[in-house]
Amino acid sequence: MLKETRKTDPTLAELVDEELHRQEQNIEMIASESTVPVPVMELSGSVFTNKTLEGYPGARYQAGSHVADKVERLAIERAKELFQAEHVNIQTYSGTSANYSVFAAVLKPGDKILSMRLDQGGHLTHGSPANWMSGFYEHRFYGFNPETEQIDYGELERMAMEENPKLIIAGGSSYPRLIDYERIAGIAKGVGAYFMVDMAHIAGLVAAGVIPSPIPHADFVSSSTTKTFCSARSGMVFSKKEHAKLLDRGTFPGSLGSIHLHTMAAKAWSFKYAATDEFKEIMEQVVINARTLSRELGRQGFRVVSGGTDNHLLVVDLRGKGITGKVFQGALDGIGITVNKNLIPFDPEKPSITSGVRIGLTSVTQRGLKEEEIIGIAEIMNRVADNPKDENVLKECKEDAQKLIARFPLYPEGTFMD
Ligand SMILES: *Cc1c(COP(=O)(O)O)cnc(C)c1O
Repeated sequence: MLKETRKTDPTLAELVDEELHRQEQNIEMIASESTVPVPVMELSGSVFTNKTLEGYPGARYQAGSHVADKVERLAIERAKELFQAEHVNIQTYSGTSANYSVFAAVLKPGDKILSMRLDQGGHLTHGSPANWMSGFYEHRFYGFNPETEQIDYGELERMAMEENPKLIIAGGSSYPRLIDYERIAGIAKGVGAYFMVDMAHIAGLVAAGVIPSPIPHADFVSSSTTKTFCSARSGMVFSKKEHAKLLDRGTFPGSLGSIHLHTMAAKAWSFKYAATDEFKEIMEQVVINARTLSRELGRQGFRVVSGGTDNHLLVVDLRGKGITGKVFQGALDGIGITVNKNLIPFDPEKPSITSGVRIGLTSVTQRGLKEEEIIGIAEIMNRVADNPKDENVLKECKEDAQKLIARFPLYPEGTFMD
């Protein structure tokens, strides 16, 4: 890989090398990250990137589509089979544009959306005032029960009945628990709203059957294909058969241009790979590792939001340790553990400071880390939290972190030899 880039642009080639080195050396625990298998990189860089096409297989706007049609049909068949879905659109470019596809499919300007509060884990595209799209719709938000730190279904139901939204959204970026899709589907049905689940974070766990799938319950299920799905930087949207035409129109021409055939091919590979025992075992271990970290951090005196996790991520309340999310993120980054600061439910701190961090287990699990190493990471995290400014302790922690991760190569040796 990169043979021609090395010849023509050594500056960029060096930056790729530098980034590879950074990823190899780091304990990567950003919950939205994962490592793509090499075929995903190969296909993302394949000649399919040269082909411009709009429309759908059998109904394209440009000539020369017969191979592309085979790729898209193959990807669709595999995705439907893997997720047991009635319909899927795999043209969308990302999790963000997947959501836009659904909005374009079923909403008109001024329509009302009921979604999870953004400071409790909802995504920017679910109605953040900072997102340009939010101005077109009316947004209402449901939140958490302060006791359980999980979705307050009673509040959700009350709001749905009072507000009569056109669309109800479930799913978020830092929600560590299972969601009762059936219950929300019932609420949506009762008020005549469409129900969409944004499974961007958990698609890999769902594909592997490690956690319940929203697909039987929701009208639409949008997703990124990065994150736990470990595939190309792209997206996908599932729907009930009855909404297939709406979804396809909302995607193209509703919200996208020409297809990205190269990432589509990479996704097709992943739809096959995600059905293998190898992928299932990784996803099972992701959940075991997340639970292990949650338990160990609890043992070290951290408070884990909602008391634990059912998926690949956890949110940790740092107030008991007397440090903020910002300080902890910075101190961990300095020793080679990458996490991100994150608001905890009802956080007294600003979003730029926060009282918590969000930690994800996908990348480290792909590298082969199991319970023993996760316990080691919890112990390092605890030393950092107790001594965030002590140079000597931090130096020791950095050495320990590097020693720990060095035994687990990011990619098999020789993968990137030119
Ligand atoms: C990450 C995320 C998205 C956006 O996905 P991208 O592929 O980054 O555009 C959408 N929704 C949720 C809940 C997410 O976590």
